[in-house]
Amino acid sequence: MSLQVDKNLLDALIDTETLYQEAPCGYVSLLPDGTIIKLNNTLLTWLNYTTKSLLYKKKFSDLLSKGGKVHFEMFFKPMITVRGHIKELSYEILKKDGSVLPVLLSAKAMKDALGSVMAINMAVYDITDRKSYEVELLKAKKTAEDEKRTFQFLADLIPEMIWTANADGDIDYVNQRFVQYFNLPERNFNLSSVASRIFKEDRKKFLNAWRESIRAGTDLHIEIRLDNYQGNSEWHLIKAVPYINQDGLVTKWFGSCISTEEHIMALKAKDDFISIASHELKTPITSLKGTLQLMDKIKNNHPDPLLHKMIDRANRNVNKTISLIDDLLNVSRINEGQLYLNKKRSVIFDLINDCCSHIKYETGYDILIEGDSSIEADIDEGRIEQVIINFINNAIKYAPESKLIEVGYEKNGQHVKIEVTDKGPGISPEKLFHLFERYYQVKNNSSGNAGLGLGLYICAEIIKKHNGKIGVKSELGKGSTFWFTLPANM
Ligand code: ADP
Repeated sequence: MSLQVDKNLLDALIDTETLYQEAPCGYVSLLPDGTIIKLNNTLLTWLNYTTKSLLYKKKFSDLLSKGGKVHFEMFFKPMITVRGHIKELSYEILKKDGSVLPVLLSAKAMKDALGSVMAINMAVYDITDRKSYEVELLKAKKTAEDEKRTFQFLADLIPEMIWTANADGDIDYVNQRFVQYFNLPERNFNLSSVASRIFKEDRKKFLNAWRESIRAGTDLHIEIRLDNYQGNSEWHLIKAVPYINQDGLVTKWFGSCISTEEHIMALKAKDDFISIASHELKTPITSLKGTLQLMDKIKNNHPDPLLHKMIDRANRNVNKTISLIDDLLNVSRINEGQLYLNKKRSVIFDLINDCCSHIKYETGYDILIEGDSSIEADIDEGRIEQVIINFINNAIKYAPESKLIEVGYEKNGQHVKIEVTDKGPGISPEKLFHLFERYYQVKNNSSGNAGLGLGLYICAEIIKKHNGKIGVKSELGKGSTFWFTLPANM
């Protein structure tokens, strides 16, 4: 490729004198006492002086701001004489109109054969842009500092413990309450120093859950005990959520430790009370049931229909009371870890059929059983019956219009799945998650026959004990399917 070049023009553009005059930086030469003896066009244009007004008339320090002048005389001049060169010192030069030009000066001393300084050649770099970036940067830094202080001020006002951690999960900030709770000597800590304040038995559980959250980038939600500064352990709910930046990366974690000690103590007191009360009630109510059964047997000797009616009603109410007390006793057993299973190989159809025929007879509901009659599983029959009866009774209680209840079961790999479906009102999605919690009841359900909100909780515990799973599918206006699975073999 051949280029058409105007050789004369090119020579002129790269001529040494042109390079000197039009360089992108200023050049100035001084006598050892600082008198200006030569300077280029670039510098003249920046400062707006004429050559005549400066050459041999002014010293370089005359162009500097007050502080700069002193520094130039006291530092720059002696230094250049001794060292022979100076690199990038920052000064402010005053332009002719009095405005300021921020510059960096680099200089070289020109010496004669005996080493005496004859002249000083200086390059002058305009750093106006850099200065304004620096100002912007400082402003941004100050704003960030202010925001950090506002966040810390707010965080210190919060009566619960809050903290942040870096992407690797190491704790890098804690609020005042955190410091007070553990009596940390200063805000100097890391994950292991904080982990040592976790109640010994809960430490591994926490660290495993935390590591898993960091690995998967998912929220942490765990209840553990923390040892306070007096060494007493108290229950806390630890929550942490990842902060994901615009590139989709987790750059920080925000966490809190909320004390649940009072709540847990109150629950425990309630559990203790319920345990004592239900045990105390069980004996007299069982004896009352015995008496009523006796009365039921002999009622035919008395023709009065009112008496018959009263005995029937009393029987129904005693049965209901016994079922409520049984629920409470079951919860006490679960709490005390005394829900024991007595497993044996069972034919699932026979089990379901027994439960259903009993309920069909008492309620008149139509219950359709569907499944392969050869399926078997290792289960505690009494407990699994309890779950199925609970599901069917709930369908009758909470979906009374649904005259057909379907009970289906199938074997799926190593599991047997059993489900109870009604065509009732269904349950709204946000409530589904809570159905298996202790004492949870859907408010405003139409049944006047509701229990204590313990039935499904007990079912969940029984299925958990069998190493199975439990759940529900439901659609408003269409109905619900409650299901559970059981391992087919032990
Ligand atoms: P309870 O022992 O008070 O009956 P459960 O734990 O058995 O409580 O049930 C919890 C809640 O689930 C009930 O308050 C009820 O509103 C709802 N529920 C259970 N089964 C059904 C169903 N088949 N259809 C609609 N709601 C139901």
